[in-house]
Amino acid sequence: MYGKFQKHLQDELAAIKEAGLYKNERNIASPQSAEITLEDGSKALNFCANNYLGLADNPRLIAAAEKAMKARGYGMSSVRFICGTQDIHKQLEKAISDFFKTEDTILYASCFDANGGVFEPLLTAEDAIISDSLNHASIIDGVRLCKAVRYRYANANMEELENCLKEAQAQRFRIICTDGVFSMDGNVAPMDKICALAEKYDALVMVDESHSAGVVGKTGHGVAEQFNCYGKIDIFTGTLGKAFGGAVGGFTTGRKEIIDMLRQRSRPYLFSNSIPPMIAAAAIEMFKMLSESNALHDKQQENVVYFRDKMMAAGFDIKPTQSAICAVMLYDAPLSQKFAAKMAEEGIFVTGFYYPVVPKGQARIRVQLSAAHEKAHLDKAIAAFIKVGKELGVIK
Ligand SMILES: *Cc1c(COP(=O)(O)O)cnc(C)c1O
Repeated sequence: MYGKFQKHLQDELAAIKEAGLYKNERNIASPQSAEITLEDGSKALNFCANNYLGLADNPRLIAAAEKAMKARGYGMSSVRFICGTQDIHKQLEKAISDFFKTEDTILYASCFDANGGVFEPLLTAEDAIISDSLNHASIIDGVRLCKAVRYRYANANMEELENCLKEAQAQRFRIICTDGVFSMDGNVAPMDKICALAEKYDALVMVDESHSAGVVGKTGHGVAEQFNCYGKIDIFTGTLGKAFGGAVGGFTTGRKEIIDMLRQRSRPYLFSNSIPPMIAAAAIEMFKMLSESNALHDKQQENVVYFRDKMMAAGFDIKPTQSAICAVMLYDAPLSQKFAAKMAEEGIFVTGFYYPVVPKGQARIRVQLSAAHEKAHLDKAIAAFIKVGKELGVIK
């Protein structure tokens, strides 16, 4: 039976390879950090992790995780509502609510699950979801699982959003949903304008803070801080897998009745395992660390400015960024792949993106800056960019 299906898969895989879209993985044999060691013993500087605050190998978080594992065990072997809730899960939910200044929080195994489980329990075919065209795949999937009428507006385009809102007056309830930071350009969603339109057209607002929390805002508290729109965003989703330690776990935080309803009806919460005690405890410690000092956030921001300014001075075309993401525009797809490969030869890991991940003719190298990077790391990366850029005729 497998024979015909095997042939089908082999052909599909060959087509993916032919199109240059086959994803190979790098096997890292060290902790995630600015400097990593690969399985073959070679070393590289990592500029493509979401480790924005450099916490993925933080000793204080590792110690908190070890301590919790000894005190509370390895795993929960249960979903939350049966017997999967410890005191520390509740403490972490409280810490997240405090961070975002919201009423309540619900944990998930990932933000992918948080987004997958947020729409269907709250909205029906009578309602409308209005979604930014560049929203993350997990929001798109979450919207698919819900029967609400769908509207889509071009990335951060407020005119189009307004038109969607006008049309969606036909529905009972409306929700605008957006990423806080869009991962390909590094731009921040204009939350002040989105919240104003939501007020004008009687809509709820949901924002995914995965790339923005810990990074955006004067003290890294995300888009509500950046745009001073506390109290105007009804639902935030986010991940513990990026700036917030980089392990695993997701959450939805916001209005109390919304969170209560998700605890009753959200399927990834009801039917998937609790996060392990060590993650809960380390995440609590992480929020404590962030409340004690803003140094990591400040260093991260300084690194972005330093890198961007030096790259622009060298003649590179850099997208305006307001986040940890710096897009070095090359426009040509094969060039982006060649560039990233040559950077790897120089010991610098960055990612080349091209259509369909970004629009046609908009190929680029995405660089992700972290508090883990020291000036020497940045200088080495910039020097490699200049060397490769000259070799490939991108700069003079
Ligand atoms: C990374 C990311 C997710 C997924 O988060 P996980 O916790 O890894 O599942 C969801 N939404 C956005 C916008 C992201 O960038």
